[in-house]
Amino acid sequence: MSSFRTLDDLGDVTGKVALVRVDLNLPMKDGSATDVTRVEAVKPTILELANKGAKVLLLAHFGRPKGQRYSTMSTSFVQGDVEEVLGKEIMFIPEVMGPVVEQSIDILSAGDIGLLDNVRFWPGEEANDREFAKGMAAHGDFYVNDAFSAAHRAHASTEGLAHHLPAYAGRAMEAELKALEAALGSPEQPVAAVVGGAKVSTKLDVLENLVGKVQHLIIGGGMANTFLAARGVDVGKSLCEHDLTDTANRIMDQADHAGCTVHLPYDVVVAKEFAANPPSMRVCNVHEVASDEMILDVGPQAVEALGDVLKTCSTLVWNGPMGAFETEPFDAATVALAKTAAALTQDGSLTSVAGGGDTVAALAHAGVKDDFTFVSTAGGAFLEWMEGKALPGVAALTA
Ligand code: ADP
Ligand code: MG
Repeated sequence: MSSFRTLDDLGDVTGKVALVRVDLNLPMKDGSATDVTRVEAVKPTILELANKGAKVLLLAHFGRPKGQRYSTMSTSFVQGDVEEVLGKEIMFIPEVMGPVVEQSIDILSAGDIGLLDNVRFWPGEEANDREFAKGMAAHGDFYVNDAFSAAHRAHASTEGLAHHLPAYAGRAMEAELKALEAALGSPEQPVAAVVGGAKVSTKLDVLENLVGKVQHLIIGGGMANTFLAARGVDVGKSLCEHDLTDTANRIMDQADHAGCTVHLPYDVVVAKEFAANPPSMRVCNVHEVASDEMILDVGPQAVEALGDVLKTCSTLVWNGPMGAFETEPFDAATVALAKTAAALTQDGSLTSVAGGGDTVAALAHAGVKDDFTFVSTAGGAFLEWMEGKALPGVAALTA
């Protein structure tokens, strides 16, 4: 990865205006945020810049207003949450450029923080319009991108601005890029990838990218069923994309050529109905699944063997749960493998990086979220990175 500038590369910023792209797209209920993790993630960057004496202008999107101004999607709704997390009052500025922004900057003192309105109110944002980016850039002395979760979008505030102002990665962006580089950019080998989740179709590009990069590809979750079916296993009523068995076979061939071992479960947890602790639940060999049963989790023997694989590896990248973890006891394989990975990480023998909406929830459920080397909450951006795609927001910082 080419290098990018960080806050360490900033000179004296006293009184200078920092345009800082952050992710403040908080989940809301009844007008207040239900989770402020995203604000906590950008807090170090904001406070560092403020403490260095910059005038910090926060730039973010909120919801999907599609280029129109909706009063219900103003970033002013998260002002209180941001103030609470930062422990500081901030000034709401109901524009992203023009005289109102200019006057607000005059009012702000060095070290003060302003919150610009929802950048997606203007069509130039998602169109990555050059003039729109230039209009925003005119107010700033430099640009900081701390929103990795928006880096897969080439929008004016995530990509365009980097072409008009000196650009820096914020601390959260820096940590994310370093973790991802350590996991798949230039990882310590051998590398294992765990790919699970519901469907092969949503992760084809992920699988194709990984087979060329990792030594062990561990496939679990519903997508394992498609691979098992491709190998001629009767998976009964399991969630399975039978139309993708050719694709699964092709991926296994690619893995073969690349020297990547594909690990599929050889024992599984099955049930006739999908419910918590169903009476029909049993553990069996993959070749013994009855026609009215569905596979809902990887079996205990396979989990133990997979743990042994992880013990031989230096790096792990994980996306997707091993089973239908939301329903007990089909969380068992995910929890057990996550605990093994966490223990190896804490012992210092494994660098572990995980991401994906349900994966983060599963690791939290297993109680090991903080024991991994890095857990990305970036969602779409994390997946595109696992697909091996260049993220425009990152490319613009590293150009
Ligand atoms: P992520 O959000 O981490 O990328 P996915 O969205 O791809 O993960 O997949 C998560 C979903 O996959 C979960 O809702 C889980 O219940 C489901 N899943 C995992 N294994 C199975 C299975 N054997 N059968 C049905 N659903 C499964
Ligand atoms: Mg998901």
